Amino acid sequence: MSFRASVLTLYPEMFPGALGLSLAGRALERGDWSLETHQIRDFATDRHRSVDDTPAGGGAGMVMRADVLARAIDHAAPAGDTRPKLLMSPRGRPLTQARVRQFAEGPGAVIVCGRFEGVDQRVIETRDLEEISIGDYILSGGEPAALVLLDAVVRLLPGVMGNAVSGEEESFESGLLEHPHYTRPQEFEGRSIPEVLTSGNHAKIAEWRREKARELTAQRRPDLLHRGDPSSR
Ligand code: SAH
Repeated sequence: MSFRASVLTLYPEMFPGALGLSLAGRALERGDWSLETHQIRDFATDRHRSVDDTPAGGGAGMVMRADVLARAIDHAAPAGDTRPKLLMSPRGRPLTQARVRQFAEGPGAVIVCGRFEGVDQRVIETRDLEEISIGDYILSGGEPAALVLLDAVVRLLPGVMGNAVSGEEESFESGLLEHPHYTRPQEFEGRSIPEVLTSGNHAKIAEWRREKARELTAQRRPDLLHRGDPSSR
C-alpha cells in the first residue's frame, strides 16, 4: 500500500503545487504516493460558511473553529484510519530527518493546515493532533509547511529516488552535515578541485569527506555533535 496524504486546507489550489513536478510529481503519477485535499470550508454549517471566529478573551486576529475543523478531520480520517494526524504549527516539535523517515515508513498522514492566529485548542486535544513545526519563523499558513513535510517524506518512499545510496549519505542521516561537492570543470576562476577527489583512492576520499563533514558540522551546527545517536531523533 502506498503512502496516502490527506491535506485539510482553505486553499486546496496550493496542492500539489511544487509536488506536482520533478521527483515528487513523477512519483505521484506513478502512484508511489497519493494526495487528496479537503476544503475545510465545506464543513461549515452556517449561512456564511464561516470557519473562524474572534478569539475568546479578546485580542487580534481570528481563530479556526473546533467544530468545523473536527468535522473535516472526521471526514478525511474516519474511525479506524491509522495514519498520524498532524497540525502544522510553529508551536510544534521541530521536524527532523528521523521523524520524516518514520512518516515515510508509515501508511501516510492527515495534515491540517492552520490559517489566521491558529486553531481552537480543543480540536488539537480531542482529535489528538501532533503539532509539527518546520522552523522558528512564522508563515502565513500551514500549506507551505505541509508541502515541505511531504517533499521530505516522498523522496524517501521506495522507488522514488533513483540512487538510493545518495539518500543515506545526506546531511543529518549520519548526524553530520554533508561534505562539500565538486564537479567539472577541473579549474574554476583559479580554484581547482581538491586533489584527493581526483586521486581515485576511494578510502582516502571517504576519509576526506568524513573529515570535512565533521569540520563543517563543528563550525555551523555544533548542536548536532552533541545530540547522541541519530537513530533516536
Ligand atoms: N499565532 C500563531 C501563528 C499563526 S501562523 C503563533 O504565534 O504561534 C498561521 C498558521 O501558519 C499556523 O496555524 C500554522 O498552521 C502555520 N505555520 C506558521 N508558521 C509555521 C511553522 N514555522 N511551522 C509550521 N506551520 C506554521
